[in-house]
Amino acid sequence: MGKYDGKVALVTGGTRGIGLAIVERLASEGANVALLGRSPEGSQTAANFIAEKYGVKTLGLAGDVALPATADDAVAQCLQAFEKIDILVNNAGITRDNLLMRMKEEEWDAVLQTNLKSVFNMCKVAVRPMMKAHYGRIINISSVVGICGNAGQTNYAAAKAGIIGFSKSLAKEIASRNITVNVIAPGMVDTDMTAALPEATRQAFLQNVPLARIGQPQDIAAGVSFLASDDASYITGHILEIDGGLCI
Ligand code: NDP
Repeated sequence: MGKYDGKVALVTGGTRGIGLAIVERLASEGANVALLGRSPEGSQTAANFIAEKYGVKTLGLAGDVALPATADDAVAQCLQAFEKIDILVNNAGITRDNLLMRMKEEEWDAVLQTNLKSVFNMCKVAVRPMMKAHYGRIINISSVVGICGNAGQTNYAAAKAGIIGFSKSLAKEIASRNITVNVIAPGMVDTDMTAALPEATRQAFLQNVPLARIGQPQDIAAGVSFLASDDASYITGHILEIDGGLCI
């Protein structure tokens, strides 16, 4: 028996990196999983891989999370395939780093829309079936940068801090329906997103990590697995920092 046998999870940005590790972790514990990425091929490849490896049902969804229509479609398809959504993980995100003086309006807008408006889009549609079911676990992936700030990331930090305020407010709105809303704030994690950083920047960052290693996507997936579980049923509006101590 898996911890999540019979449960259904929808994970945005589930094709790669942290999102794929979350999908793998929940599927390995028995959940049927819908995962969303930008390209239909990428999503389908990841969905097939997970279904074969873990023997669960999967659904590959594609679209831009910044658009409300993507959320409408993703939730509708998930309900059609699985009849419910127990766990929603808002993980999709991008960076467009620049110092404020040089930051283009497009860089600000792209990051705010992909990283923050997407969370509004997805939650607005997914809470409806969760409220009917009197059950739900929403986990939003923020960043320690949303708590501590980071030069060159005013757009990203604003979006990630916004996720925290949004989640705490939504937690209060829907707690009475047995739906929890929690946030994970990762530190630096080894994915395509951080592979793009210069080695010197990565090393400088790591010098401030007391546990002296970069995080792995599985470290974040473990936090999701806990927050989505019955063991976390009395936890809502919480920020779980998984950062090796970076933000202490
Ligand atoms: P990756 O760049 O490795 O993966 C990003 C994922 O998001 C991909 O699945 C991608 O889909 C999807 N995605 C991006 N933009 C969109 C969009 N507009 N619509 C739909 N899907 C989209 O990122 P990480 O795994 O590193 O990051 C995952 C989350 O964790 C992000 O929110 C990030 O901000 C956060 N985070 C990451 C940290 C790190 O150090 N890596 C640290 C702190 C937070 P596709 O494959 O189709 O491109």
